[in-house]
Amino acid sequence: MHRTTAAMIRQQELLTRLDAAIGDGDHGANMARGFTAVDAALDGAPPAAASLGALLVTAGNALVAVVGGASGPLYGGAFRALGAALGTSPEVEAGRFAAGLAAALDRMQQLGAAVPGDKTMVDAFSPAVGAFRDAADSGADFPSCAEAAARAAEAGMRATVPLQARKGRAAYLGLRSIGHQDPGATSTATVFHALAEAAG
Ligand code: ADP
Ligand code: MG
Ligand code: MG
Repeated sequence: MHRTTAAMIRQQELLTRLDAAIGDGDHGANMARGFTAVDAALDGAPPAAASLGALLVTAGNALVAVVGGASGPLYGGAFRALGAALGTSPEVEAGRFAAGLAAALDRMQQLGAAVPGDKTMVDAFSPAVGAFRDAADSGADFPSCAEAAARAAEAGMRATVPLQARKGRAAYLGLRSIGHQDPGATSTATVFHALAEAAG
C-alpha cells in the first residue's frame, strides 16, 4: 500500500492530465489524497488489526471516506472486499489472493455496473485478476502471479485508448472519448505494478 501511495503521488500529474481530457481533471488529486489517507490509516492501525485482510479493509475505508469521486467507492469497495476475502489468516498464498481479487472485481462491478470494454478501471482490473488466477492455477509463486497481473493490467490500460466510454463522466463525451487512455485504468495498472514491486 505504501508503494501504491508513492506511485500515485509520482503519477498525479499524468492522472490529472488524462482525466482533464475525458473527465473533470481530479483523478490525480483524488488518488494522491486518497492513498495518502490510506498510509495514515495504516500507520495508525492498532497492531491487533495487523492481518493483511484487516489492513486492506482499513485501507478501503480510508478511500471511501476521503475520495469524493467515483473512484473512491469503487477502489474502496474493492479493497474492502479483498480484505474481507483474505480474512485474518496471517499468511496469504497466491490461490487465496486470486480468490480475493475476484471478490474485489465483483464488488467493483456491483457498485459501478461496468463491464470490460466500457473504458473504465475494470478494463485493467479484470485482465489483471484473470492473469493472477491463471498464474496461480499453474503453480506460480506469489511474485510471479503479481508480475503477470501487472503486465495484464498495463495491457488492459493501453487497450482503453481506442474504446468509447460507456460508464463514468467520460461517457458524456460519446465518440469524443475515443483516442484517450482511461484515467482509472491507468491508476489500476499503478496499483498492480506496486503489488508486483512489493512482492518481487
Ligand atoms: P470522477 O469521475 O467522479 O471525477 P475520478 O476522476 O476519481 O472520479 O475517477 C474516474 C475514473 O473512475 C474513470 O476514469 C473510470 O476508470 C472510473 N469509473 C467511473 N465510473 C465508473 C464505473 N461506473 N465503473 C467502473 N469505473 C468507473
Ligand atoms: Mg474525475
Ligand atoms: Mg470528480
